[in-house]
Amino acid sequence: MIIELVDHADHEDAEQLAALLRSRGGSPHIVRWPGRWLILETAQDIDETWLRQLPIVARVVGSTDPHPLSGRKFQSVSTMIEVGGRWIGDGTFLVIAGPCAVESREQLAATAAVVTSAKASMLRGGAFKPRTSPYSFQGLGVRGLELLAEERLRSGLPVVTEAIQPKDVETVAEYADVVQVGARNMQNYALLGEVGRCGRPVLLKRGLAATIQEWLLAAEYVMNAGNPQVMLCERGIRTFETASRFTLDLAAVPIVKRLSHLPIIVDPSHSAGRAFMVPSLTLAAAAAGADGVIVDVHNDPASALCDADQALSSEEFKSTMVDLERVLAVLGRHVA
Ligand code: PEP
Ligand code: MN
Repeated sequence: MIIELVDHADHEDAEQLAALLRSRGGSPHIVRWPGRWLILETAQDIDETWLRQLPIVARVVGSTDPHPLSGRKFQSVSTMIEVGGRWIGDGTFLVIAGPCAVESREQLAATAAVVTSAKASMLRGGAFKPRTSPYSFQGLGVRGLELLAEERLRSGLPVVTEAIQPKDVETVAEYADVVQVGARNMQNYALLGEVGRCGRPVLLKRGLAATIQEWLLAAEYVMNAGNPQVMLCERGIRTFETASRFTLDLAAVPIVKRLSHLPIIVDPSHSAGRAFMVPSLTLAAAAAGADGVIVDVHNDPASALCDADQALSSEEFKSTMVDLERVLAVLGRHVA
């Protein structure tokens, strides 16, 4: 269950109630939620009627969700997240686009120009890259973050970029508008805790072989650390199929929408692995009811240092945006 304390309650009140719960056989977890204290109680046999009449308690939610904070019982209305004046989860469709990796000032500027003129909502670009091979390009690090900040200034687009280890989160959060946790790090619990304390919205990718429940539990780690601003990202899972790089699990969209109030976006690029599939998967994500997509775009895909096969060219991205607006219009939606 989730026990919500009254507005004026402080940390000491939360500690006192937690001690009381422990004395009654409970195992409480205190969570600092924006504007209030919450206590998550996993023991089943705590008397809710007793709890409800305590003056310090504002609300008791009898949720049995394994992921209570991201569950619909705790919050029935869908979460909306504001990033640089744009909203995620308000019914508009977010398009995050940009290179897989920031390679140079010229490459980022040229790609950002494409992304801006096609009217995408945000700019993506990895500065710290989690590469499968240690011999692949590992990203520009802090220099990449600086270049992203320059492009934000020039284009006005909020920036999404990844943190790959706990010690980098603070630095990444200084530059980024949204901190990304990559698929390979979905169960890096130290990293999840750190992004939970970073004060920025988090884009949490689904692990390569993670079930939806494991993914929602990863989101719970971020939220449990006090950060309610989590957007989930379906980016394909490992199956027996090898014709696409990963199998895009679009069923995850309606399933997550039913189980959770968090927004969900789709990554057609990392799932497909090849550019020719990206336009149709983008349209499919919109039709499936996703809150947006994150797409690899490169000013010169053939020369990309990272994931060259899946990057859309300028022309391909522009025509995808045109088709996307047409699909969204049928659904009464538009790009954010
Ligand atoms: C990325 O978006 O740059 C990335 C590395 O994706 P994923 O973590 O989904 O593989
Ligand atoms: Mn990539």
